[in-house]
Amino acid sequence: MNIKTIGVVGAGTMGNGIAQVCAAAGLKVIMQDIGDAQVGRGLSTVAGSLDRLIKKEKISAEDKQATLSNITITTQLSDLADADVVVEAATENEALKLDLFRQLDSLCQPEAILASNTSSISLTRIAGVTGRADKVIGMHFMNPVPMMALIEVIRALQTSDAVYRRIHELSEFIGKVPVEAKDSPGFVANRILIPMINEAAYVYYEGLASAEGIDEIMKLGMAHPMGPLMLADLIGLDTCYAVIKVLHEGFGDSKYRPCPIWQQMVDAGYLGRKSGRGFYTYEDR
Ligand code: NAD
Repeated sequence: MNIKTIGVVGAGTMGNGIAQVCAAAGLKVIMQDIGDAQVGRGLSTVAGSLDRLIKKEKISAEDKQATLSNITITTQLSDLADADVVVEAATENEALKLDLFRQLDSLCQPEAILASNTSSISLTRIAGVTGRADKVIGMHFMNPVPMMALIEVIRALQTSDAVYRRIHELSEFIGKVPVEAKDSPGFVANRILIPMINEAAYVYYEGLASAEGIDEIMKLGMAHPMGPLMLADLIGLDTCYAVIKVLHEGFGDSKYRPCPIWQQMVDAGYLGRKSGRGFYTYEDR
């Protein structure tokens, strides 16, 4: 495979996981975020995740060091100039992503592939703001990235077959299973998942059961490994809200209307695990 260096934009929940799996596969990774605190936190999350894998005897201490030595951190987007592939994993906000792709297009090598980990935003629209629309593609990793096998690979209308094949190959190289999906609001995974989570939020909002009760019903009754509200906390309530809004606006269908609780929780800074409080509270943050 002729992909050696991966740029990762955003060192949050997803970005640091993407950096970890690419670095563990032997690729050089440059992980960028807007500030020292964000990149520092991202790198320490990777170290903590590798420590847990050592404890479970899945990797050795040498593997941890080798993975960490493949990752460099930066706050400058221009440091991604030599990457073969950039995976953008910044906040789920269309204007922000369009701006990032314009910048990446102007500073990256002309042959570099620009991928987005967006959960819902149109890859065709993102590709359209670049001068290399054929080299823009969606690589939708699942959370937590080191544990989850799937990458939903989303083709923009403009994505070339050659770029799709290279990203398919890269996904397998880092130990994941790529599955192709067409560009449409929420693609496949979040078209199905997020309306269920939104409905669980409505059930909670209407006071029909406690958060624990709703999650127990879905775990014990439907054999889900995690209840929908705990899963919302894991995803991030700001991200869940952003995705349900994209579905609602994208399809213009009232069945996707966002539960009012999302706006309240986001306004309160209750973003789920990453902020220490969402439908549940988390002592370790
Ligand atoms: P997050 O809030 O944990 O992290 C986002 C990071 O992006 C933050 O560290 C923030 O500082 C950074 N950022 C914001 N603006 C930036 C900029 N201009 N340049 C560089 N970095 C910037 O969010 P997340 O959960 O990691 O989500 C990132 C992307 O991954 C989103 O598009 C989201 O929809 C997608 N995604 C999330 C999940 C999930 O379960 N959380 C799953 C799949 C895909």
